[in-house]
Amino acid sequence: MHYRFTLLPGDGIGPEVTAAVLEILKACDLHIDWEETNAGASIMDTYGEPLPQVVLDSIKRNRIALKGPITTPVGKGFTSVNVGLRKALDLYASHRPVRSFPGVKTPWENVDLVVVRENTEGLYAGLEHTVAPGVATALMMISRKASEEIARFAFEHARNEGRRKVTVAHKAGVTRLTNGLFCDVVREVAADYPFVESEFMEMDNICLEIGRDPSRFDIILLENLFGDIMSDIAAGLVGGLGLVPGANIGYKCAVFEAVHGSAPDIAGQGKANPIALLLSAAMMLHYIGERRNAQRINTAVDTVLEAGRVRTGDLGGTASTAELTQAIIDALPRR
Ligand code: ATP
Repeated sequence: MHYRFTLLPGDGIGPEVTAAVLEILKACDLHIDWEETNAGASIMDTYGEPLPQVVLDSIKRNRIALKGPITTPVGKGFTSVNVGLRKALDLYASHRPVRSFPGVKTPWENVDLVVVRENTEGLYAGLEHTVAPGVATALMMISRKASEEIARFAFEHARNEGRRKVTVAHKAGVTRLTNGLFCDVVREVAADYPFVESEFMEMDNICLEIGRDPSRFDIILLENLFGDIMSDIAAGLVGGLGLVPGANIGYKCAVFEAVHGSAPDIAGQGKANPIALLLSAAMMLHYIGERRNAQRINTAVDTVLEAGRVRTGDLGGTASTAELTQAIIDALPRR
């Protein structure tokens, strides 16, 4: 089978980790034609804007994109490229699986949870105003439609992947109308899935409990901002941002990207960890039905991490991106 997908290498460490992932995908004998384009600060000179229509058109045409981290140019009045992309393509669900990795020592074991984040509204709706000098407001938007869609995504995911519980994060005690609506709608959707347990917890309580015992969580369903914060907290539980993959799913398109940003502090030094983007690519393969290859990549990553000999700096090692890439290729199980 020949595939054609869009590739956005991004900036910062993006091009380095993207190149590593393409090498590993090639070693899997996958035939993917990449339509390469880009967004963000690196294309400003060519297009004069960070998210031109050609990028959106490419993803709409191919339906699937693999995307490196992207920096939005600061101070030029542009809204976040990542937020813009999710809105323009209606990628309403952010899906971030977080699990313990063999051989990666952290204070927590047996973490195996999924962060499901509503991707299009909340405080990310971009409705900010300066109402008077020295006074600014941001509107938190919650709609019945988006809440229902993300709730259904979470419960369907539980059903399809054999997960048992959805924990719904909220602050309905304080923001009664917005978070209250979110909870009401999720409760209605949950009633259609009586075989999946649901629980509603205040966001601050989740932060407390996840630090005590992350293994008590299965799927955590959150509105946009809480989901952003929870993704990084959860990544910290299993070894950091270099390991955690993600997917942005819509009805027509899906964009696969790591949770981490462009890490300018280590960009261009050949020492970024490509595993987060690689596991995002494995999610992409799973999504399109290439399950065997998705599994091969996960197994190779586990094998290398468990052996512990080849690790990048974020995991306490000294290996380069290239060395880790080769180690993963060498560890790929036979087809
Ligand atoms: P953004 O605001 O764009 O989301 P951020 O402020 O969350 O970015 P990141 O770019 O994600 O920051 O990086 C946070 C820290 O984690 C940095 O110190 C960076 O070096 C480290 N880091 C992130 N991703 C990786 C990676 N793939 N490999 C190694 N280190 C990483």
